[in-house]
Amino acid sequence: MTALSANLQAVRARIESACHRAGRDPAEVRLLAVSKTFPADAVVEAAGEGQRAFGENYVQEGCGKVEQLAALGLEWHFIGPLQSNKSRLVATHFDWVHSVDRLKIAQRLSEQRAPQLAPINVCLQVNVSGEASKSGVAPGEVVELARAVSALPQLRLRGLMAIPEPTEDEALLRSRFALLRSSRDRINDVLALGLDTLSMGMSSDLDLAIAEGATIVRVGTAIFGSRTPPPDSNS
Ligand SMILES: *Cc1c(COP(=O)(O)O)cnc(C)c1O
Repeated sequence: MTALSANLQAVRARIESACHRAGRDPAEVRLLAVSKTFPADAVVEAAGEGQRAFGENYVQEGCGKVEQLAALGLEWHFIGPLQSNKSRLVATHFDWVHSVDRLKIAQRLSEQRAPQLAPINVCLQVNVSGEASKSGVAPGEVVELARAVSALPQLRLRGLMAIPEPTEDEALLRSRFALLRSSRDRINDVLALGLDTLSMGMSSDLDLAIAEGATIVRVGTAIFGSRTPPPDSNS
């Protein structure tokens, strides 16, 4: 068995046992394999092990893999910071975008998504860590952003995403994940959008995120190994 195959099995087992402990059905939690900085070959290998959904952070790198691997019919998620001048590439290459944190980007993605393609699935990135983090919409503003984004024709608003600040404090981390869940629940109460997605949890904390309701965990290192810094990360 290859290292990648063993890693994937171990991550799947972690997801299952976290679901068991939380009294959740493992079918509610999807594994997004974060392949940023790893070559297309690694994606092909993971696809051969049954992994279908892949996450990328950098626009050029991600679009290259999407094009190169188009024949495999994989599902591609853009999870990195998104600048306006790169939105067209994302709108034409990806199935999901997890990192929408302002209306202008959402409008551009909707306008640039070809009408013959299905709408892009979108999560709003929420800043659950306050001062400790820069990206994401403030929790107090997420309902209004959700209202505006849900009206855009070529987007399908699915839920919320967060990247809490790195910390060893498990109680703090859980409270960040819980804030994302309560924000999603509030949007559903106020706007009745039926948002079904909480994108939260990475290699080090997916178990805690599942305990707090994650429906997509974004896992890189635990599947592909540790990353060297990208050669040129001007995404
Ligand atoms: C890199 C990255 C991940 C994966 O992180 P690991 O710690 O390697 O699992 C998940 N989400 C986002 C937004 C990332 O940038």
